Amino acid sequence: MSAQQIMIHFGELSTKGKNRRVFVDTLAGNIRHRLNKLRVKMRVTHDHIYLYGEELQSTQIIETLQDISGIHAISIVEKVATDTETLIKTARRIINFQDGQTFKVICHRKDKSYPLISDQINRLIAKEILENTSWTVDVHNPDFALKITIDRDAAYFITRTYPGLGGYPLGTMGRTLHMMSGGIDSPVAAYLLIRRGLNVEMLHFASPPYTQAAVIDKLKELLTILTRYQKSIKLHIVPFTELQLAIYQHAPEGYPITIMRRMMYRIATAYANRHKIKVLSTGECLGQVASQTIESLNVINAVCNLPVIRPLATFDKLNIIDIAKRIGTFTTSIAPYDDCCTIFAPKNPKTKPRIKEVEAIEKLWDYELQIETCLQNIETITIDDMPFANDYL
Ligand code: ATP
Ligand code: MG
Repeated sequence: MSAQQIMIHFGELSTKGKNRRVFVDTLAGNIRHRLNKLRVKMRVTHDHIYLYGEELQSTQIIETLQDISGIHAISIVEKVATDTETLIKTARRIINFQDGQTFKVICHRKDKSYPLISDQINRLIAKEILENTSWTVDVHNPDFALKITIDRDAAYFITRTYPGLGGYPLGTMGRTLHMMSGGIDSPVAAYLLIRRGLNVEMLHFASPPYTQAAVIDKLKELLTILTRYQKSIKLHIVPFTELQLAIYQHAPEGYPITIMRRMMYRIATAYANRHKIKVLSTGECLGQVASQTIESLNVINAVCNLPVIRPLATFDKLNIIDIAKRIGTFTTSIAPYDDCCTIFAPKNPKTKPRIKEVEAIEKLWDYELQIETCLQNIETITIDDMPFANDYL
């Protein structure tokens, strides 16, 4: 008797010590949440999560699992009895389904009371295959590696392995307030943050009527795509028009963008502090535009008392575009739209703004009152995922 199961391999959990349990339990919860419409049973062990059950349609589930952060790899395994006769029979059957000429057996004996050690099992099975098939052994670069885990209750043969998303289970790193525009970069940055285990909440600065309502539809579309990786995403929309007009009224040529970004950071920081979010994030990329030089980032960052994660800081645009295409945000991102940055963009933004000058300009009006008005009038909408799991029913 053998039964197909799915074996989920964890990523970088080996360094997590006592927190390991929290990571594994969170991952198990996330998987359950994702597969909620599928009747799949789950067993959580120290090293793996197993999915099984009579209705297990492994090929259908793999795709969903590949969108869940904290999964390093996903294997289809066959669960069989541990007696040597069964091990040999199963090995023969599995190798018959593989393409290639060279193989290697890799046994991992978790049950240390098993009468044979791993190397003896490797040899026993390899001998059988060599004597009965045309396959030959190549220990360095085999066409097929036959992997077996011997556990207390059963032996697991890995028949196929798919790459996972990597990173950490969503939520294990807390929450970030992510500054989200409708461009290419910020959705890609959000994806990388989610993959690393951070729940993202989006903050968007809108300047109607200068920016159109269509921008919000575009954001909703982008966020719907990202719900593949985080089931539910909050979008906080800041009415930014009045503050932005005041900036352009008071700031001399070259300075509006720097000051506008300081205002964005002030609002983001205040919102995060009030809602117990401990980190901010953006799609900023070193050197990409005037506001993203080290000098500009210094002046902008000076108003913020939270760490800011900039996942794309060192990425080339082409790499960012590659990821945007892979995760499906690119086409939506390139649709033309007017961002508050593009509409008001001055001709010669300063690449090396001086903080003293910036502070002097900001003294010209009571921006703090306007910031408070922005904060009081934030509108929040929640974007929920498309019913991926339902598709499989
Ligand atoms: P993107 O492609 O993400 O729009 P960009 O290359 O256009 O980035 P900027 O417009 O300078 O660069 O913006 C840098 C970052 O600032 C964005 O990645 C985003 O995190 C944030 N940002 C810009 N505009 C807005 C906005 N209207 N609302 C919220 N965040 C914004
Ligand atoms: Mg932008």
